[in-house]
Amino acid sequence: MVTPVRLHNTLGRRLSELTPLEPGHVRLYTCGPTVYNVVHIGNLRTFVFEDILRRHLLAKGYRLTQIMNLTDVDDKTIGGAREAGLSLPEFTAKYEEAFFRDIGRLNVQPAEKYPKATDHVPEMVALIETLRERGHTYESDGSVYFRIATFPGYGKLSGIDLSQMRRGERVAEDEYEKEDAKDFALWKGAKPGEPSWPSPFGQGRPGWHIECSAMSMKYLGRHFDIHTGAVDNIFPHHENEIAQSEAATGEPFVEVWLHGEHLVVDGEKMSKSKGNFYTLDDILAQRDDPAAVRYLFLSVPYRRKLNFTWEALAGAAAGVARIRSAFGRIEEVAASGAEKPGAFDAKERGRKFLEDFTAAMDDDLNTSEALGALFPYLREVNVASDDGSLDARGARAALEAIRSADRVLGVLPAAPDALPAEIEARIEARNAARKRRDFAEADRIRAELASRGIVLEDGPSGTRWKKA
Ligand SMILES: [Zn+2]
Repeated sequence: MVTPVRLHNTLGRRLSELTPLEPGHVRLYTCGPTVYNVVHIGNLRTFVFEDILRRHLLAKGYRLTQIMNLTDVDDKTIGGAREAGLSLPEFTAKYEEAFFRDIGRLNVQPAEKYPKATDHVPEMVALIETLRERGHTYESDGSVYFRIATFPGYGKLSGIDLSQMRRGERVAEDEYEKEDAKDFALWKGAKPGEPSWPSPFGQGRPGWHIECSAMSMKYLGRHFDIHTGAVDNIFPHHENEIAQSEAATGEPFVEVWLHGEHLVVDGEKMSKSKGNFYTLDDILAQRDDPAAVRYLFLSVPYRRKLNFTWEALAGAAAGVARIRSAFGRIEEVAASGAEKPGAFDAKERGRKFLEDFTAAMDDDLNTSEALGALFPYLREVNVASDDGSLDARGARAALEAIRSADRVLGVLPAAPDALPAEIEARIEARNAARKRRDFAEADRIRAELASRGIVLEDGPSGTRWKKA
């Protein structure tokens, strides 16, 4: 029997039992990066939390469709491209590649699709047209705004107080003050020297918020199961997504909203001026151990603030080393081939361990408790190995139990036989993309594999891969 997964829903601030709208299939949207810089470790913490959610749902046997967007047109990307003297696609391609490299090193499983905003402008225009037909918009100076006074549900996610809102106020920028609810731009009139697209409202470009509404509903339907992001997405981004989507469809948009807490460094907010702003490269230059970074993220449940310190990272590295060395010792016993009557019952203990592990993960992805279940099990198996009561059969059962937990944790090196199967699946996905002439997607899969050290060679007999 599958035990239920309980998740803390920001909408209503309560634990919700996950009941997929389509039985057995979870549809998940995760707000992706704005590709204008190299993401910092706080962003990466959010992506790892979403990976843990993904892996746990897969481990529970759900079919999963995860969509993560890439915001490749907004104020920041346009400003960055201009400063760098590059075209927008040239500029964003660089950071897109850096993003996939970072999440690859942190062993984040790829989402089913990474749609780009610039590939979905027609969908955004269509959504704005629907909002216009339904009376939720007004136009001014070539831009289109969402009138939040026409959506009574505004504020239900964030709890923002609408009585503080002054009538007719609006914002043309994507970035604006928090705690301040204002009409927001759906479509921004073209400015000289900026990329723009044609639309019934004139030449222009989409606002940031409409990007996520259009792409999530295109790939997951008008009403889907889970939408995630970091806590600073709750307002205004996700509040605005709800307003746009529900005003357009007249249906509920998302069942469960999950938000990852911030990461602070030495107890302080990260900032470039304080010199405590880290990218993954900054961290790995000091300690080249991506698994330790991942483990550090797992050691604190996603809804609690995580304090990054070098000592905490050293502690996480020790944790990974303990898991790996215990695993290695058990592998040796498994390889010995000996079986003994009355040996330590690693299978039964493993079953109990996985039960505790799963219960912790079902409890709003409590990764620290899940890790807490792993170590006593490793210790017991190691003690049995020391006193000779662990036989090969027990060792194999223990390896299976630990591997099973690691399908969620992702801190052990990939099993030698698991890797090719996964790569073959990605190659198949790439072939399918090429067949439907989606070359952007095909190139993306190639780049994603390259970031993991896998090189593809296309030949007359198909695609072969090798390690770089
Ligand atoms: Zn978003």
